[in-house]
Amino acid sequence: MKKILLTLLLLNSALLAEINVAVSYPFIAALTKTVGGDKVEIVTLAKGNWDPHFVVPRPSLIRQVSRADLLIINGGGLEIGWMPPLIRQSHNRHIQPGTKGFLDLSQFLTLIDKPTSVSRANGDIHPEGNPHYVTDPYVMPKLANAIAQRLSEIDPDHSTEYQNNATTFEKKWQINLARWEKEMAPMKGTELIQYHELFNYFLKRYGLVSVGNIEPLPGINPSSRHTLELIKYMKAHNVKLILQDVYHSSKTAKYIAEKTGAKEILMPHDVDAVHEADTLTHLYDTMIKRITQ
Ligand SMILES: [Zn+2]
Repeated sequence: MKKILLTLLLLNSALLAEINVAVSYPFIAALTKTVGGDKVEIVTLAKGNWDPHFVVPRPSLIRQVSRADLLIINGGGLEIGWMPPLIRQSHNRHIQPGTKGFLDLSQFLTLIDKPTSVSRANGDIHPEGNPHYVTDPYVMPKLANAIAQRLSEIDPDHSTEYQNNATTFEKKWQINLARWEKEMAPMKGTELIQYHELFNYFLKRYGLVSVGNIEPLPGINPSSRHTLELIKYMKAHNVKLILQDVYHSSKTAKYIAEKTGAKEILMPHDVDAVHEADTLTHLYDTMIKRITQ
């Protein structure tokens, strides 16, 4: 009897996930699941409808990081306010920066909007460039490959499986990219404003132009003076679109919409930011549907 139980126990643990992965945001979880399949157990530290810049390093998050074999972050400074204390307090030597248990996805990309000078007078800017590359669907295959590479280093026994999953993803993704390209083509050249420079990668990819931000400076709340200037500019240049994110108040966007006749669109910036954006594919489907309709 004891022997049977022991065998069952061993079998069970063999079937369990082999790598505990903690990731900062839902899009990383989606990519990691696609590549890692049932070989990974994933915890996502920040929710998709949260402000990605500000996450409270609560004890529950510290516990999740302390159990991880691999920590995957967005990087580019997006987690600078909350990830370092989590890593420190987790006392987990496996996921420290510089080890193979730490993966910064921004290292595989070239960030845009790198400021030429960094000063506090410019607000809470991103000194390493714009870290919100998640809004560009074209970066995803590259990131899937980076994750496959790292999972292979940690778990060489399943390396072929990880590489194959990344390749399959890339093939399927090309079909999505072609479809989105077609759907976005009529939007080329459209001018709009956004709350924060959250969608610059998306806009650049599809040739749309951001002519202003509702926040007067990054991380600074809207001011009436700046809002009136925006309204004046939008009226003069016939700007008819406002991209609002899901985690800031939409009060100012609604006011601007009312004064200019522009359309305010609630744009998801990550998987699960809004209900329909429940997968990586649905994230871009939703963004594109909302901006084109
Ligand atoms: Zn930002």
